[in-house]
Amino acid sequence: MMPSPWSAPATILEGTYLRARRAITAVLVHGPRQRQLGIHAGDPPLFRTVFFELRTRCNSRCRFCAAAVPYESRPDATMPFALYEKVVEELAGIDYRGQIAYHVNSEPLLVPDLDRFVAFARARLPRAWVRIYTNGQALTRSKGESLLRAGLDELTVNWYTSGEDAPLPRNLVVFRDEVLPRYHPRERVRAGSGPLRHGDRSIFRFNIHRRRIDEVLDSRAGSAPNKQARPEDAAGFCENPFTQLNITADGRVGRCCADFYFADVMGNVATESVLAIWHGPRFQAARRHLLRGERSASALCRQCDFIGVSPPGIPLVAHVVSSLLYRIDRLLRPPLEIAPEGRASSSRETGCLTAVRR
Ligand code: SF4
Ligand code: SF4
Repeated sequence: MMPSPWSAPATILEGTYLRARRAITAVLVHGPRQRQLGIHAGDPPLFRTVFFELRTRCNSRCRFCAAAVPYESRPDATMPFALYEKVVEELAGIDYRGQIAYHVNSEPLLVPDLDRFVAFARARLPRAWVRIYTNGQALTRSKGESLLRAGLDELTVNWYTSGEDAPLPRNLVVFRDEVLPRYHPRERVRAGSGPLRHGDRSIFRFNIHRRRIDEVLDSRAGSAPNKQARPEDAAGFCENPFTQLNITADGRVGRCCADFYFADVMGNVATESVLAIWHGPRFQAARRHLLRGERSASALCRQCDFIGVSPPGIPLVAHVVSSLLYRIDRLLRPPLEIAPEGRASSSRETGCLTAVRR
């Protein structure tokens, strides 16, 4: 762990720095993003992405994620197809054109019949954008083909590796060079994320991002196994409860993607409608506090150092300022790292990805 440059006599300076950072973030990062999303104190806009955690499991060993094999403590649960069908039918009823994804803190390719879930969304939500974020380990030729046949719009592989010079795994080479071109001609395939325009499906997005498996990222509301949360780092507003609908295998809807254990339950899609939950009192209270910058009102938010906005697509000023602040912060206040042996695999103290940017 790097030593902090803030010695005891400098704590006043550190306090001043933190207050200045919060003020700059509010004006130059949160403000522009709120205006872009049409976020205000009234009724929220509709969620932009529905995340289905179809199975509460992952096969990777990312040091920063509580879903990684060495840290996992949740029961292995899979969403019944009938429950998924219910939600998708409700989305069809409002002609949903946002995004559908199949992870929260989990690996979608561990769901044996994932293509069936994709095909159903494709059939019932013809204008929605259907995407898979995966670590790619289970991307076999037949799995890749079945997902492309089912009508997927985007496949993004976060390839987590510790080797700087590690060659691209063979299964990813096969998918990129042999499988994908059979379904989408080269000119249709683009890097990046999401549709060109809302409701557009004229391109296929494909990415392989090389990522470090031992990175220190956000505190994830206190659930990150390799980073100690610092409440003073909580950054005020956060867009996630305004943009994400996260549903886990048994139907619970959580506060956000950092609510690892779905502990702050906004409702359950097994017994309530999606819109009733989205506009319901629990979500509205969470949003009210975040709009006022009050992360202390939530046990999760108070341990969360997520800056509150997620690229891509955020206003340029928000992007530039948040990147700059991130760099300055890493320099002045290096993360408090937790060694691998320092965390028990059954830790549940937060009651709660990325930002694990997945
Ligand atoms: S970050 Fe993603 S791939 Fe890594 S352990 Fe977590 S869920 Fe798995
Ligand atoms: S601040 Fe963190 S815990 Fe709170 S809503 Fe945002 S991502 Fe979730």
